[in-house]
Amino acid sequence: MKILVTGGAGFIGAHYTRGLLAGAYPDSDHAEVTVLDKLTYAGNLANLPTGHPRLRFVHGDVTDRALLQRLVPGHDAVVHFAAESHVDRSITGATQFVCTNVVGTQCLADVCAAANVAPLVYVSTDEVYGSIAEGTWDESCPLAPNSPYAASKAAGELMARSYWRTHGLDVRITRCSNNYGPYQHIEKLIPHFVTNLLSGRPVPLYGDGGNVREWMHVSDHCRAVHLVTVKGKAGSVYNIGGDTSLSNKEVTERLLRLCGADWSQVRYVSDRRGHDRRYALDASLIRKELGFVPRIAFDEGLADTVRWYRDNPAWWKPLERAQP
Ligand code: NAD
Repeated sequence: MKILVTGGAGFIGAHYTRGLLAGAYPDSDHAEVTVLDKLTYAGNLANLPTGHPRLRFVHGDVTDRALLQRLVPGHDAVVHFAAESHVDRSITGATQFVCTNVVGTQCLADVCAAANVAPLVYVSTDEVYGSIAEGTWDESCPLAPNSPYAASKAAGELMARSYWRTHGLDVRITRCSNNYGPYQHIEKLIPHFVTNLLSGRPVPLYGDGGNVREWMHVSDHCRAVHLVTVKGKAGSVYNIGGDTSLSNKEVTERLLRLCGADWSQVRYVSDRRGHDRRYALDASLIRKELGFVPRIAFDEGLADTVRWYRDNPAWWKPLERAQP
C-alpha cells in the first residue's frame, strides 16, 4: 500500500507515519509512505525517521496544485493532516488558516478526483461542532464552529464532502477530540504546561480553568484514522472520542503532580476570546462499524508523555527559543 500523508512532519501526522513504517496498524505491513509537508513552525523533520527505505519526504505546500498533480498519482490513499492547528494563532491571524485548511483541502480533493486516487481521509476535529452544555454530539449534529481555526476545519470538511457528492471521490472524515503524546508542539496546552513546569516557570490557565475537553492519546487517534482509511465507508464521518473528559483545571492538577510542582506555579489569565466551554463526542459509530476502542488510559498516557518531555529536552528546547 502506498500512502500519501500530508502534514506528516507535524505532531499527529508524524506519529501516523512512524506507525505505518513500523507496521503498527492493520494492513500496514510494508506500507510505502510519501510525506508532503511545508515545514511551517509546527513541522519538524526531527519527528520522522531519517533514511528509512520506505519513506519519501517532499517539502511542499498543499495549495501547490502543480506539485500535487505530480505527487498524488500512484498512491492508494491520501491521509490529510496538513493544517494550521492552533486556535490562539487563528484568533490573531486567520488568513493562513483559510489558505491551508480550506484552499489546501480543495486543491487536494480536486487533484485526487482528477487522478482517481482515493480514499481521501480528511482529519478533522470535534471543535467543528462548537460548544455543548450537556450531552454529546453524534455525527449528524450541525456544525457550529466558534473559533476561526474550527471554522476553517469545518469549511475544509464541507469542501471535501462536496467532492464526494459532486465528483464521486471517496472522501472519509474523522472528528477527533484533543490529542496528547510525545512530539507535540509546545504551544499546545499539555506540552506547554509540562515544559514550563520542567523549566521552573509558572503556567497560564485560561479563565476559571473550567473548560472541559476529551483527551485521546495520539497513538489511539492514529489507529482510528488508519481503520477509517482501510475499512471506512465512502462519504462517512466518524467521531473519534476518548472517554476521558476533564476540565483544564483537572488536567493542570495532574501535570503539577507529575512534574513535582504545586498550585503556586499556576497563573490565572484572561480567558481566550470565544473559548468553547465543553466538547463531548458520541463515538459509538466508529466502535460499532469499525470496532475501534481506545487502548491508552489517560493517566498512564499522560505519565508517559511527561516522561518523554523530561527525557527529550533536545527536542523541545529549540522550540522554546523560537516561540514568538
Ligand atoms: P501540527 O500543527 O502539529 O502539524 C501540522 C503539520 O502540517 C505541520 O507539519 C506543518 O508543517 C504542516 N503544514 C501546515 N501547513 C501546510 C501546508 N500549507 N502544506 C503542507 N503542510 C503544511 O498539527 P497536529 O496537531 O499534528 O494536527 C494534525 C491534524 O489533526 C490537523 O488537521 C488538525 O486539525 C487535526 N486534529 C488535531 C487535534 C489535536 O489535538 N492536535 C485533534 C483533532 C484533529
